[in-house]
Amino acid sequence: MTINENSTYDPAKMDIEKIQPKPGLATNFEQAAYPTLTFSTKSRIWGDQSGNALESSDLDNELRQKTLTKNGYRCMFCGFYSQRNHVHNLTDNHRDIQPDNLQVADPLCHGWQHLGELGEGNAVLAYLPGISGQDVNHLQRTIMIALQSDDASIRDDGKKLLNWLASHRDYIKEAWGSYEPGVFVEALTRFHEEHREKREVVFHSMSVVFNPGLYSQYVTTWSRESYAAFPIAKWGEVYHNVMNAPA
Ligand SMILES: [Zn+2]
Repeated sequence: MTINENSTYDPAKMDIEKIQPKPGLATNFEQAAYPTLTFSTKSRIWGDQSGNALESSDLDNELRQKTLTKNGYRCMFCGFYSQRNHVHNLTDNHRDIQPDNLQVADPLCHGWQHLGELGEGNAVLAYLPGISGQDVNHLQRTIMIALQSDDASIRDDGKKLLNWLASHRDYIKEAWGSYEPGVFVEALTRFHEEHREKREVVFHSMSVVFNPGLYSQYVTTWSRESYAAFPIAKWGEVYHNVMNAPA
């Protein structure tokens, strides 16, 4: 069993002795497995017809499919698998559809790359030190699934967690004067011409907390694809096992 076979992966029954790591694991220390997740926005490029769309309008279906299958439908930032993941333009230039500028991003990590396209009231920036952006997104996905549960107490837990995440926007307002993503877009546009890596320093520990309504259309697919082996009824047991794991 490998950890990537979602259909057979059951965290509660996982036998660590039997997991076969990928053969390439730890053979390449030149490069981190996943890049730092930081903010961006679409470049203002003459002729770009994409509007507020997160995907380039120049992409045809064939190129889109090719990019998704080549990367196994996995998000380049957090590794999340979904048939409904997006194609992301690495340089933020939606007119550049050369294969090496195209990658896969899940809708949440992709949202981080499109602060200018999220629309007002759909997200806040929150200061969440000690939690990676990737984990914030995994948590938000889980919250979005909990919010659509039939069980009122699970929906309530989801709401509490989401409010806790979003409450960290107050630190951003104190430091920057606003937690609205749109306010940061001008600064991000200037970063395009300067050094992109500066963003990782300036925006360190900052996360995007989304309005879950923005992603409600994905929840059914996510539940079926990745949470099927991980039903809500088991969450308590998994939590207990994680908290009581032998040191
Ligand atoms: Zn992701």
